[in-house]
Amino acid sequence: MTNSAKANSVTSPHGGGPLLCLYGQGVARGYAIGRAVVMGATALEVMHYRITDDAVAAEKERLKRAIYMARREIQELGDTLPDDAPRELGALLGVHGMLLADPLLAEEAYALIENKHYNAEWALTTQGQLLGEQFAAMEDEYLRERAADVRQVIERVLHELAGTRGIMCLSHEEDSDDPLIVVAHDISPADMIRLRGARFAGFATDLGGPTSHTAIVARSMGVPAVVALGHVRNLVRDGDIIVVDGANGAVLVNPPDRALQEYRQLQREYVDARAELALLRDVPAETLDGIAITLHANIEMPEEAELALANGATGIGLFRSEFLFMGRPDLPTEEEQYMAYAAVVRVMKDRPVTIRTLDIGADKTIDGEATVATNPALGQRAIRYCLARPELFATQLRAILRASALGNVRILIPMIAHMHEVMATKDAIAAAKRELDARGQAYASHIELGAMVEVPAIAIAIEPFASALDFLSIGTNDLIQYTLAIDRADNDVAGLYDPLHPAVLRLIANTINAGVGAGKPVSVCGEMAGDPLLTRLLLGLGLTSFSMHPQQLLDVKREIRGAHSNALRMKVAASLNRGHAVDPVAL
Ligand code: PEP
Ligand code: MG
Repeated sequence: MTNSAKANSVTSPHGGGPLLCLYGQGVARGYAIGRAVVMGATALEVMHYRITDDAVAAEKERLKRAIYMARREIQELGDTLPDDAPRELGALLGVHGMLLADPLLAEEAYALIENKHYNAEWALTTQGQLLGEQFAAMEDEYLRERAADVRQVIERVLHELAGTRGIMCLSHEEDSDDPLIVVAHDISPADMIRLRGARFAGFATDLGGPTSHTAIVARSMGVPAVVALGHVRNLVRDGDIIVVDGANGAVLVNPPDRALQEYRQLQREYVDARAELALLRDVPAETLDGIAITLHANIEMPEEAELALANGATGIGLFRSEFLFMGRPDLPTEEEQYMAYAAVVRVMKDRPVTIRTLDIGADKTIDGEATVATNPALGQRAIRYCLARPELFATQLRAILRASALGNVRILIPMIAHMHEVMATKDAIAAAKRELDARGQAYASHIELGAMVEVPAIAIAIEPFASALDFLSIGTNDLIQYTLAIDRADNDVAGLYDPLHPAVLRLIANTINAGVGAGKPVSVCGEMAGDPLLTRLLLGLGLTSFSMHPQQLLDVKREIRGAHSNALRMKVAASLNRGHAVDPVAL
């Protein structure tokens, strides 16, 4: 994260620019070595002044036109996306287009011009800052990072107002054969498209996090990236030699020859290792003692289903449907939702597609609601939110049910804590089916219903839930948050967020055992499932089904294929029974 970015600096042995080592967050693995291309400043100085009464109409018109031009530019970029552009870029441009169309941005800025007589730039940045702060305060990591999108669209409009469209300028000489490393404050999706034509091998940015654009696009392109470096853009000069170490979240500037040689060696080893890993795509995920393990993918956008298949996923274990609802002023219609779910089902053919019903609420609002609960994590979130809004829930359920007619759809309910919530969900599904019957629309005759196990209460008293449901999926991200009373979004207590806490492990073990007892499948779909360092531990807890980001699948599969499940189970059980923490490295 930005505030943890550190820098060490000494004089370069080459006598060139200073040797620097900066630490941020590695968000796309691998190593890149090349010359820096420093992107121009994206933050514009904004004039603040008050306009006279008779200038209000013209000032509003000026802003309106700039917003229109910025929208048109984004639209054009989207329309002319080359076929080989990363899929995510189109979606990210869509987010920018939606933000620009959001009345919360434009209308409020016009009101500031009208009521307070701010000049257009001042009105826009004031409202943009407010919106950005609302996003930045959100609990959900993905939503928090949308604050960067707000900033980027504001900057785009400011450039239109200033008549300086096109913020990026690649100034490095074109005749050098060295790979290029983009060094920037932040990179917007539109900048990403402009960068496509250039040869670039890595990214280093001041801002960003695991779900920022730079991260998403870099991962999808397999280009190493380190974000949240703090001040890399100001510290690096065009043409400096840069190493981007995506594995360790480090950026070296003008390193000595010996370090460069070592990194070149690491780079070769990494490329070989990825090529070897790719060979695992179609081999079975089976332990050395013959236990078959299910490896599913977590996706957030329908387009990611292809990525899941490309990485050998045999199903979708978690489709976070809330991403269809976010970043827009209105709710997605039943038809829109159906199209999104159907798209995933079509790609996955008869493989399972687990669609999680809307996990939103409290501080994560849609359609501009401003309902900040006293403690958002404990407020009206997920299934609580949906059951309190029967129409919204019914619309989503109908869309999911309709998609079930095309393949193998499963429904997953988030944040279940009470049996009456399961019953109410079953009633809502039955009502949605009746509505479809009345319309003559098809749905699958049997659709499995499962619950996220992420509230400790149900992990402790799990048996009735295992009986009442068809499957269980452990959401370790929230399970850890609620078990250890650690806000997963609060950096101040991040050090206490401990997946290895014996209490957490016991809850996971209890849930898995109850599933085995009731003959119901149990998977883990929280971040723990995608961490190859924890694969052996989870196997030792008896887990036979994992769901994770597609890019993590093959690493985890390799761990599985080298593990002896029964031996691990004995070791882990012995530690857990003594109430000890388990050291995953020692397993
Ligand atoms: C979890 O809580 O572990 C989970 C997978 O859900 P989310 O991260 O979307 O809350
Ligand atoms: Mg969760």
